[in-house]
Amino acid sequence: MTKTVLFSAPAASWESYAPFLKNLFDKVGLNINLVQDTNNPLNVDYIIYAPNGPVQDFAPYKNVKLIQSLWAGVETALQNKTLTQPLARMVDPGMSAGMADYVLGHVMRHHLGMALHGSVQPGEWRNDTAAPLACNRTVGFLGIGALGMYCAHAVAKQGFNVLGWSRNLKSDDVVKCYAGADGFAQVLGQSDILVLLMPDTPETLNLINADTIAQMKDGAAIINPGRGPLIDDAALLVALDSDKLSGATLDVFRIEPLPADDPYWTHPKVLVTPHIASETRLETSAAVVVENIGRGETGKPFLHLVDRSAGY
Ligand code: NDP
Repeated sequence: MTKTVLFSAPAASWESYAPFLKNLFDKVGLNINLVQDTNNPLNVDYIIYAPNGPVQDFAPYKNVKLIQSLWAGVETALQNKTLTQPLARMVDPGMSAGMADYVLGHVMRHHLGMALHGSVQPGEWRNDTAAPLACNRTVGFLGIGALGMYCAHAVAKQGFNVLGWSRNLKSDDVVKCYAGADGFAQVLGQSDILVLLMPDTPETLNLINADTIAQMKDGAAIINPGRGPLIDDAALLVALDSDKLSGATLDVFRIEPLPADDPYWTHPKVLVTPHIASETRLETSAAVVVENIGRGETGKPFLHLVDRSAGY
């Protein structure tokens, strides 16, 4: 029996995804009618979704088994009160690989003091700043989910000592794992470079604030490709100005695009990147979409379902 899959993401992504998805559905033997719009919401079985796509009212789609997001972050989707169907977020190997490149690059930037050497004045010969070996630096990850754990492994491969903190305690051969309030203090207190890869939820709001920064090592650096509200911005600026922290790479912000008069833009110790740490990649994400719809059709549990009570 033919199933109807509605693609509700911006029109530009339809052009690239549609042929790819149709080919993959055929390859795995799924009989799918992939459509960009419909007059018959009750006939739709699955929705491929981006929060900036055309469908905003999901109430009429009463027979939808799964809404598969193309985005990793789900805070916007969870604000939509009509979206009550099972929701899967995107866990895309291509996105993880891109995030690992970003994190590794910026870990190296802080590790090697590249910002300092990029800003010295002519004649300022700072030859007292050779970096220690990577094995003598600790990189802590707040959030060791799909992206955090992948990035932590990439950083560990370069020889760094790597710690990770999550809600539920994990065990890993490479990453020393922590959970709970004590574990949080351990990761804060040991990390030379702290990477934030957590979702935006009520529990993670202002996780990095004056109190938690005070628990960090003097001269530590922060890399935030997670979400802007994880950081109390005023507290971070104070910590940078007072030399408590040595630098920050920030990819995500409370307001995006970051307003032109935001102090982060001109702060000498801050590198702003415009929410480009990583993105969903066509080939690998299309395979994830097809896998999950295939699961729905063969009675297997869906992958990457959002836990609405946890907010991610
Ligand atoms: P996951 O859901 O796989 O991982 C989230 C991690 O955060 C998990 O380890 C989780 O713990 C932990 N966590 C969540 N809440 C808490 C809490 N209250 N206390 C302690 N730990 C907590 O997400 P991803 O790894 O896929 O993505 C992480 C975030 O990265 C996304 O939410 C998104 O905001 C951001 N992102 C940014 C992009 C960019 O370009 N800048 C691109 C893609 C994503 P546990 O493992 O126990 O559940």
